[in-house]
Amino acid sequence: MRSEELLITLARKIHGEDAARILRVLMDKAELSDEELAYELGMDVARVRKLLNELFESRFVRYRRARDENVGWYRYYWRITDEPPERIVEDRKRLVAQLLEKLFLEETRDEYYVCPACGSKYTSAEADELGYVCAKCGEVLEPYDNTARVEKLKKTLEQLRNTSMMRETSS
Ligand SMILES: [Zn+2]
Repeated sequence: MRSEELLITLARKIHGEDAARILRVLMDKAELSDEELAYELGMDVARVRKLLNELFESRFVRYRRARDENVGWYRYYWRITDEPPERIVEDRKRLVAQLLEKLFLEETRDEYYVCPACGSKYTSAEADELGYVCAKCGEVLEPYDNTARVEKLKKTLEQLRNTSMMRETSS
């Protein structure tokens, strides 16, 4: 996949179709202001600005700020990042790995109880406090077997780590 297409696909996955449309327009231009982008896409300026901020946080776009002497305020001119998309992918993976580690710790730190009727989940402390009865529907709680979930989290984490390492050693 060409790196521009990879960038657009990533942006769509993370920020949605409209964000991907913004990137696609920026690909063909040197730089555009918020207003110009909104005009090109027939989108609300406020929405364009919100999406641009999201794209900036994920490092898909950069901006140049210039003072408009006529109106006396600053205008922002946006362009595509010059970072390689691979680096954005790696950063993304690192964030996902952090999230998975957090979930993994949560699952393994404590024992859980679940309501067989409504599916509500409680920590052992919460369940103890409730006398092992669901707070929502009064059903008796059952110990929650999270072995499968923990195994799945572990596997996903390992896969993520392996692909990252492979990329680092091959480049
Ligand atoms: Zn319940």
